[in-house]
Amino acid sequence: METTKLKRASILLLFGCFSAGLTSAKHPVQAPAKKTCESGVVLKLSSGTASQGGLLLAEISGSKPSQEFSAEWDGRPIPLWRETPASPTLHAVLGVDLEKPPGRYEWKLSWAAADGKPIVCSLPITVRAGKFPTERLTVEKQFVQPDPEQQKRAEEDQKKMKAIYDTITPEVLWKGKFVLPLKGVTTGGNFGRRRVLNGEARSPHAGVDFPAAAGTPVYAAQSGKVVLAENLYYSGNTVVIDHGFGIYTLYAHLSEIGVHAGDPVELSAEIGKVGATGRVTGPHLHWGLTIDHARVNGLQIVQRQP
Ligand SMILES: [Zn+2]
Repeated sequence: METTKLKRASILLLFGCFSAGLTSAKHPVQAPAKKTCESGVVLKLSSGTASQGGLLLAEISGSKPSQEFSAEWDGRPIPLWRETPASPTLHAVLGVDLEKPPGRYEWKLSWAAADGKPIVCSLPITVRAGKFPTERLTVEKQFVQPDPEQQKRAEEDQKKMKAIYDTITPEVLWKGKFVLPLKGVTTGGNFGRRRVLNGEARSPHAGVDFPAAAGTPVYAAQSGKVVLAENLYYSGNTVVIDHGFGIYTLYAHLSEIGVHAGDPVELSAEIGKVGATGRVTGPHLHWGLTIDHARVNGLQIVQRQP
């Protein structure tokens, strides 16, 4: 067992990845949570517990198609959708940000009863601490202490990303289950890893790193619309895809970008090639998943359909 682990670790290091900390795309068996509220509306969550960087699939059933619901999670309104306009079931995905403090929270729903009376019903969610190791890295000085011009570029990038994540496209752009962005790969690492760069603590690593040779094709994890395809200061050549209802995937450090902002993409369409652009120690794919601003482990959505 141990030797296999070591072997996998050394293979990863060989390919320039930062760590041997692996997470697989398998999901732990979780007990779903359910609550029947007033007027027969039923709230369901794929689990009553989630770890930092995890996600929960949510469902509201027993509603009338004309009924309007508002959902709230993590202090934000969460978009809900119906599979068809006449469906009595609504859906949502709740992302648990990798830095959300562990504790007990609520997924809160509100709507109006037939007589107009406001109804509020909620389901508790326990957030557990994620097990994230700390990584110490030495990188080129310019990336740790950017000069004023680089600092300005990085801030502009950040503003651009915030504007993207602030936008919720009220449309299901995905088709079926999410897949991994590289072929022949089943695991990736580094999600949530706390970083100390040249002795200074930095924000945690918000994506999954896949070791791969430069030039390896990168595929869209799901269909959607390209909303960013350009070079950013830290993440190098970057592609961001909007999948609708606040769900976005990001592909960073590409050597080549094969799409343009505004392009529709199909599930598994090639969008670029693995590279080492931006702040990296070697070629790999950095893959990010953001759900309503929450930075989530992408491996949690693979093989799942929201
Ligand atoms: Zn990364």
